[in-house]
Amino acid sequence: MWRVWRGYCHIKTSGLVQLRQVPHHVALFNGKRQLCRPFRTSAPLHIGPWILGTPLARFAIAVAGRYARRWWKNLPDGEKASMVKYVRERKDTVFLVCLGGLGALVTYLAMHIEEAPITGRRRFIWVSNEDLETMSIGEFEGAIQKYTELNAVLEPSHQAYKLIKEVVEKLLAANQYKEVQNINWRLFVVCNEEANAMTYPTGEILVYTGLLKQLTTVDELAMILGHEMSHAVLRHGQEKLSVTTFIDSLLLFPIAIIWFMAPFDSLAYLMHMISKRLVTMALHLPYSRSLETEADMIGMMFAARACYNPAAGPSLWSHFGANNNSIGHYKSTHPPSEERSKKLQELLPIAKSLWESNECEKTQAAHKKFNKATGHHWKQKTLAVS
Ligand SMILES: [Zn+2]
Repeated sequence: MWRVWRGYCHIKTSGLVQLRQVPHHVALFNGKRQLCRPFRTSAPLHIGPWILGTPLARFAIAVAGRYARRWWKNLPDGEKASMVKYVRERKDTVFLVCLGGLGALVTYLAMHIEEAPITGRRRFIWVSNEDLETMSIGEFEGAIQKYTELNAVLEPSHQAYKLIKEVVEKLLAANQYKEVQNINWRLFVVCNEEANAMTYPTGEILVYTGLLKQLTTVDELAMILGHEMSHAVLRHGQEKLSVTTFIDSLLLFPIAIIWFMAPFDSLAYLMHMISKRLVTMALHLPYSRSLETEADMIGMMFAARACYNPAAGPSLWSHFGANNNSIGHYKSTHPPSEERSKKLQELLPIAKSLWESNECEKTQAAHKKFNKATGHHWKQKTLAVS
């Protein structure tokens, strides 16, 4: 089985397996088939308030601050003094305007708090799901088109595809949340040496064959797929974009001040970059890591309900941490592997109780049968050799 996968990865030289263009239909998990939507038919993007947090808005405010500085510099001293005097005489009004602005901001925040599905965690959302889906479809289509041109998308009849599909179907069948069932899940397996998998908010699951090399059991595959599917179910993309763009839009004011106050452009640029990096390190990355931890935990619960051994969760991350430091997807936006493993270990008793309540011993035997039938044997030594 593994040789077949390697054949796919080296199709041009070995020619073991023929790859064809990505099929125009994909198998759905309800057994039906559905036509893929044609490429480049995305709906127009709705311009929401989150647009304020984009790089374009930061650039525009920096330019405005710079021109305001130059304007102020060229202003005669008398006019400068009279303007300062005008503002000082109205400092109470200025204070009230600032207070009103702060009140409006807090009210806006409070009005955009909603509960996350499954966990019930309260969070801030100001990016609409439609906006995110439009962006997601464009991103997915770009990715899948690239792999199609490379002839690297596996057919649904391929054994690797079937194995992953089996796990996804079990996860879906065992987790009957409406948020899980409402997503139009579609699976794509791509021949790529990188150990990676991702799920788009619109339900496309993209798995690289390189990931399979890193796994030792089908339970570990279930943990990864559970994690990735949790991101879509919990709408982490929407939440992350909301928080990131909101923080960045709040930064517009300090950026304008920096460009207005700095004596010259290079210093303003340096301060701008430092502040951006500080915000990323102090706010964006920790937030991203907290979402990853949540996806780990919910993913393990999904897998346990589907009768995959939850003990694979902690062992997966200790295994990844020990043997692979080059997994692009699991870098600084993600918690360290040891921390992920520890968190899942803490949650293991609850996941085990789910596993036991589902009479999973029988299903485990079925997993073994399935692995045998597909010719896939999860042996670490065999996989590690390549
Ligand atoms: Zn993730």
